[in-house]
Amino acid sequence: MLNTHWHFDHTGGNENLGKAGAIIVAHENVRKRLSTEGFIEFFGMKTKPEPKVALPVVAFTRDLTFHLNGDELVVSHVPRAHTDGDSIVRFRKSNVVHTGDTFFNKLYPFIDTSSGGTVAGVLAAVDGVLKTAGDDTKIIPGHGPLASKADLKVYRDMLAAVSGNIRGQIKAGKSLEQVIASKPTAKYDEVWGKGFLPPEKFVEMLYKNLKK
Ligand SMILES: [Zn+2]
Repeated sequence: MLNTHWHFDHTGGNENLGKAGAIIVAHENVRKRLSTEGFIEFFGMKTKPEPKVALPVVAFTRDLTFHLNGDELVVSHVPRAHTDGDSIVRFRKSNVVHTGDTFFNKLYPFIDTSSGGTVAGVLAAVDGVLKTAGDDTKIIPGHGPLASKADLKVYRDMLAAVSGNIRGQIKAGKSLEQVIASKPTAKYDEVWGKGFLPPEKFVEMLYKNLKK
């Protein structure tokens, strides 16, 4: 079993699956973050160290391949994206890609700065998938409905445009309040703003991330 990153909504089953004998596999930073106390700064959320049975038994640093069910599952680490331990999985034969949380489809994405995440890393991870995916590749986002390459491109363009706008305003010395008041997400809110992060929180998150 593979964890795409350490967040509890993607690793919460580890303990039960570990007890049932599953071999948990993840990037080494996932194991590090699960085995110590964690803190997701943006939400002020503390996490406890996981019991040993919930920790990855196999920890890798770059990439690895599973040969399963007649398919080849190529797992690639993408540095400093949603966190510092993200993996993207390509099912070669089935023509499916699981992006983990580097892709939220039709809802504003969370990027966990306090876990080493960066906007540039997310964009680079997405570009890597866009380069190798075909028009008929099925793309499974970390959150939101099943997607196509075209959907992923729309996400990439939204994130690049909004973060570019905010980066420019930071350079111009604008405060968080001024940037929020300028509504840099206005044209995207109808489609993207009704999910996990409302527009203002998304702007605040990008501002704080890009300011670092
Ligand atoms: Zn996550």
